Amino acid sequence: MPDASPRKYVPRPEGLNLEFFRHAGGGALHLQRCDECGSFRHPPRHYCQRCFSPRYSYVPSSGRGTVYSWVTSHFTVDRGWVAEVPYTTVVVELDEGPRLVGALRGLDVEDLRLGLPVVLVGEPKGDDFVFFWVDAG
Ligand SMILES: [Zn+2]
Repeated sequence: MPDASPRKYVPRPEGLNLEFFRHAGGGALHLQRCDECGSFRHPPRHYCQRCFSPRYSYVPSSGRGTVYSWVTSHFTVDRGWVAEVPYTTVVVELDEGPRLVGALRGLDVEDLRLGLPVVLVGEPKGDDFVFFWVDAG
């Protein structure tokens, strides 16, 4: 009997977003960094927000940072996530500065605090997308 359970939607990123996820292939987070002034960018951009340079490279990130904010969803219209509610989405401020979003996995929501050390851990979903989890740092 075929598996009738709803599947989670996997985005198909394009352009700079695809470039970002391809650099995170295998789950290793990389960030766009300006080749001129060294500032980090996320979401990926064509031009540096500090010096407007179009030159950049992707550099590895430890994924370490702190909790910037979070929200717990008790309802979803996405059938792929119905079995997961309630789930918590966390905005992580990385040590490099940019903020990324991930799903809480390694902590109880009751233990979340602003500024709490956490780490983003990537889980590849195909060749072009990586889902990020948030674990205790
Ligand atoms: Zn720059």
